[in-house]
Amino acid sequence: MGFKRVLIANRGEIALRILRTLRDMGIEAAIIHGKEDRLSLPVMMSDIAYPNYRTNPLDSYLDIEAVVNAAKELECDAVHPGYGFLAENAQFVKRLTEEGITFIGPSSDVITLLGDKIEARAAMEAAGLPVAKGSSEPISDEKVASELAEEIGYPVIIKAAAGGGGIGMQIVEEESQFASALKLCMSRAKSAFGDERVFVEKYIQGAQHVEFQVLADGKNAIHFGERFCSIQRRHQKLVEEGPWLSDEKRSEIGDLVCRGAESVGYKGLATFEFLRDSNGDFYFLEVNPRVQVEHTVTELITGYNLVELGIRVAQGEDLPLSQSDIKWRGHAIQCRLNAEDPKEFVPSPGRLWDCHFPSGFGIRCDTHAHPGYEMPGCFDSLLAKLLTWGHDRDDAIRRMRTALDETQITGVQHLIPLHRRIMDEEDFLNRDVTIQYIDNHQELLG
Ligand code: ADP
Repeated sequence: MGFKRVLIANRGEIALRILRTLRDMGIEAAIIHGKEDRLSLPVMMSDIAYPNYRTNPLDSYLDIEAVVNAAKELECDAVHPGYGFLAENAQFVKRLTEEGITFIGPSSDVITLLGDKIEARAAMEAAGLPVAKGSSEPISDEKVASELAEEIGYPVIIKAAAGGGGIGMQIVEEESQFASALKLCMSRAKSAFGDERVFVEKYIQGAQHVEFQVLADGKNAIHFGERFCSIQRRHQKLVEEGPWLSDEKRSEIGDLVCRGAESVGYKGLATFEFLRDSNGDFYFLEVNPRVQVEHTVTELITGYNLVELGIRVAQGEDLPLSQSDIKWRGHAIQCRLNAEDPKEFVPSPGRLWDCHFPSGFGIRCDTHAHPGYEMPGCFDSLLAKLLTWGHDRDDAIRRMRTALDETQITGVQHLIPLHRRIMDEEDFLNRDVTIQYIDNHQELLG
């Protein structure tokens, strides 16, 4: 049965993105929101807005019982979590399920499994995905851990089992640094995630970040190809593009990720993240069990509305497409226009005195910004996602230069100057990009 009313438990550009698709599908859009967002576009455009004003603004979106109550009071059939906030919270999914409300995403068991990087690694290795050499159990004992690191071979990386957002990871070059790095990673993991379990993995030198978009209905899975996301600051993406791989490689890794998703009974949109080393070998990193910021890149090159497809499988539909329906056309690039200074990446909240976003052939801009918009300092700094499509990569890059030059944002600092320099940088133009790109190109930071 189709949903009649869905609660959006998110804010900003992704709330607007979800709202528009609900409209297209003839579904009523309700939204829960904090005080800072009461005048925002998604709140103004929603059919029903549910204020949840809190002293700590994050609680407006993170308080599980408040969101569940809003969904109940407003008689919503389902909740769309977007990304961040409660999108990967198994307890939230459990509570909604208990109340007979559908969570648009996978089951709480699947979220629990995938939220633990150690278990996710083991599950995906069992399904045949390649993983980097590393520990299959959490470690805390320094001696055991350092023996394992020796066996794996330095450099290694210590990561939190419950990790996210690149927090706490420690790269260790040699044995003498190991003990202190282990302690630091465990204490950071404990304070950020309330879980001090960590694991050790081979550090992949000169790696590229490549990820696959998957859609599954609980039984079968299909993939929509890859996105290349190596241009990162502090392990967070700034520029994403696709396609990146040969047709043969896409189909090889694509088959594997579908098998991985099917092996855990996955339902909804998922992203399988990999590192690819300089030999072209792939190593599974993690599964993000939700819509991702950069899903838009895939929409431009495949022509499918991924948010709509995610809602349809949540409604109980079988996959409405088969693998052979998915074709890739041209090239797309996305620049994240964060409200940050383009040198240190410090958030720059404030009022947008004026702004103009580009449009035209081959251009897409997903943003909740408008002239007069007050960018709050308490949330993520993503202000707009600017995308261009081209017949090939050069065409998409040329169009991105034009689009960036046309964009006007007055009142806050933003990343347009950085993106504009990247679009002219030689290694970027030659596709010679690894996850160290920004570290190796400090001259781009102006
Ligand atoms: P998180 O969930 O915290 O974002 P991920 O496991 O997805 O962590 O990794 C995020 C980023 O950290 C990767 O894109 C990469 O830049 C770096 N990274 C993680 N694991 C490794 C590794 N084994 N070797 C090299 N870099 C890594």
